[in-house]
This record gives sequence, structure tokens and C-alpha cells, in this order.
Amino acid sequence: MSGTGKCTVVVGCQWGDEGKGKIVDVLAEGVDVVARYQGGANAGHTVHVGDDEFILHQIPSGILHPGKRCLLGNGVVLDVQQFFDEYDALIARGLVLDGRVGVSRRAHVLLPYHRFLDRAAESSAVEKIGTTGRGIGPAYEDKAGRRGVRVADFGNPTRLIQRVGAAMERVCLRLHELGHGADAELDGQMDQALALGERLLSLATDTGPEISRALEAGKRVLLEGAQGTALDLDHGTYPFVTSSNTTAAGAATGTGIGPTAIDAVVGVVKAYTTRVGEGPLPTGFEPEMDEHVRRLGGEFGATTGRPRRCGWFDSVLSRFAAQVNGLTGVAVTKLDVLDTLPELQIATGYRLADGSVVQDFPADTWALDSVEPVYETAPGWCEPTGDARRMSDLPINARRYLDRLEELTGAPVQWVSVGTKRAQIIPVA
Ligand code: GDP
Repeated sequence: MSGTGKCTVVVGCQWGDEGKGKIVDVLAEGVDVVARYQGGANAGHTVHVGDDEFILHQIPSGILHPGKRCLLGNGVVLDVQQFFDEYDALIARGLVLDGRVGVSRRAHVLLPYHRFLDRAAESSAVEKIGTTGRGIGPAYEDKAGRRGVRVADFGNPTRLIQRVGAAMERVCLRLHELGHGADAELDGQMDQALALGERLLSLATDTGPEISRALEAGKRVLLEGAQGTALDLDHGTYPFVTSSNTTAAGAATGTGIGPTAIDAVVGVVKAYTTRVGEGPLPTGFEPEMDEHVRRLGGEFGATTGRPRRCGWFDSVLSRFAAQVNGLTGVAVTKLDVLDTLPELQIATGYRLADGSVVQDFPADTWALDSVEPVYETAPGWCEPTGDARRMSDLPINARRYLDRLEELTGAPVQWVSVGTKRAQIIPVA
């Protein structure tokens, strides 16, 4: 598909939930391999194919296109039980997966004790950061702490038992620190996860060499991120972030290819802004409008059902996302959600407490709580856009809104999504 390269990254440009699943699903049509590069079962992509809805947590959205190879890179943390539940559910719905899914031997494995630790930390007043409680943070902590268990370890049961045993000792201490007793259920669940090892090894691959060989053979590759730029461990609103690099550079480290192999980066932005979990949302609506747009956009988490906070489009953030990801293009999603609003606001800067206005996304997360967005007003279009298939089908005010988003973001809009269905997409010529 035009607008993509031989090796294209699809990255969220806000706080996740931008509709990456739909864009990956649309772009996957024109590629041979789709690989996830970070995150775990905390991400939830919702994709609509015809009247069917699929919620994918770990397997790349490309799986819904017959014959595409789908990989989970070394940068993901793999929840084995959840992964196979998802895998088997897709087979039960008629998908043929034989030889289509590969998991990096270097990927870290999320074990049941990671979930226990996550929930224990979230229930502590001091450590709460609004995670999904899926154990992702603790699994990445073990990775950085060099205590992790990787897919490759399943090939050596003695080493595996040794490593898990050592980790368990630390887990018990940590749970004790957080005021929780070690749960008796832990052992049984662990055995279950370990029993899946053989099946896991049957899917193991080395994603870096595999993707490089595919590119050498002239195949096209899509690298799919989870969450979004403002949740990146380094560049997001730390500490209210996820535990991995969601931004485009993470696609190279998270799959094992060199950065020069990537030749296109498509940023997905929602036509407004949402955020789930704790942390600042500078353009957040007042309660009544928040409720209204949440309902219009169905803004409830795919993984947890949590209501998302909603706000106006924030070009301070989208410009930052264009810079930090090196965007070559943008896909704007959920334009149709704004169809009934008579007037829209776009944040173009932030006014700080001292009255000065900044255009750069501040590093100080707590300063973001008190910034006052500087808005410009755009007229709404008050017409349905769901049937538009070309830019010329869109109302003039919708086109002007998109032009302004493009101008402020500093990267060309290449796709506009106007509904949940595959066909509801406008490629911008
Ligand atoms: P992701 O994690 O970035 O893939 O985002 P989610 O799956 O959490 O959210 C996307 C939701 O928005 C899904 O239910 C999609 O079907 C839906 N969606 C995606 N694009 C559009 C769009 O253009 N319009 C509308 N109304 N819904 C969309």
C-alpha cells in the first residue's frame, strides 16, 4: 500500500488506544510479515472484520489476514497461558494458524508471580500507578534486573527450574514487603505455565534474522507497537508510563533488526485525545463533555473495560510524537466520533504557571498537571463521515480540521479512519 515502506513501523502517538489495531489490520493487507515489538497482554487491539469483532492482546493484528506470518519480538513480555488462550480462540473461530506465528527465543516470559506482584503493588497506596495488573511491569523489572526467564530457557528444564526457583524466593520477600502473604495458588499456576513450554518452543524463532531474511527476499514487513508515545518508558509521562519503549526506535531493539532497515514510520493519532490510568491529560474535558465523548467514541479499555478520560486534540503531543518517532506519515482515526460536535478545540501550546507559553512537550510530568492548554477553535461539520471513502467526500470543515492537524503535527496525513470497519478508511492521495 502506498505510504508504507519495505519495513514500516506503526506507532501510537498519544496515550495508546489510538486505533492501531485497525490501521495495522488495514496495512497488513500489503505486507508479508507483521511483528509486535514491545508490551504484553496489557495491550488490547480491537479489530472489526465484517460483523466480527476480534480483541487481540498479544498476537499481531495481521493474523486476521490469511497467510501472513506474525511474530512476537524479543521486546515483548509473553504471558504464555494468555497467549495460547488467544491462539486457540482464533483457531476456534476458524483461522488457520499453522506455521504463521513465531515467538522470539529472546522474549521474556511473564509468569503468574508477575501478576501477583503487579496487583500487590497496585493495591499499595505508595506504589499505585494505574497499571492493568497483568504483571507487565514486574516482568520488565526482572528483565532489567537480569532475573528474567526467556523463551530459550524452556529448552533446558534444569536451568529453567533453577531460575524460576531463585525468582520465587525474591517474589515471596517482595510480597511480604507489600504486606501480602505468598499465595498458595502460586505453585499450581506456575506448573501450568511451565507445562506449556514444549508448545512454546514449537513456535520459537529468532525474529531479527527472520525479519532480515524476509527483507532481503523482497518481502514487506510491518512492525506493530502497543500503547503509545506518551506511555514510552523514556519519553512518556514518567512514571505514569508502561515499562517498555513504545516509540519507533523500540521497533529495532524489540525485534532484533538494525534501525537502518526501517524506512517508514506511520503514527496513529486519534482525532481527539484519550488516556486511561493515572497521570496528566492536559487537554482533558470537563466531566459532562468527558462523559459525552466517551460515549460517542466507546472509550472503554479493551483489556480492563476501564473508562478512558477524553480531551481535545493536543498538537503539542502530536508534534512531539512526530519528532521522537521520526514519523513519515500519520493515520488519523475516529474522525467520525466528532461528527456531531458543533465546535472543536485544538491545543497548540501550553501556558505554564509563570504565564509563558511552550510548544515543546515538557519533561516534567507534574508540571503537565498545572499547564493550561492554549486552544484555537475550529468549526465542526455536523454531518456523518462514516461513508466517506475519498477526501473529497468529507465535509469541508472536516478537511480543514485534518489540514490543521497535519500542519501542527508536522507530518503528512496519509490515512483517515471514519469508522470501525475495514472499508471505513480514506487513503489520502
Ligand atoms: P489500539 O489499542 O490502538 O488498537 O486501540 P483500541 O483497540 O483500544 O481502540 C480502538 C477502538 O476504536 C476499537 O474498538 C476500534 O474498532 C475502534 N476504531 C478504530 N478506528 C475507528 C474509527 O475510525 N472510528 C470509530 N468510530 N472507531 C474506530
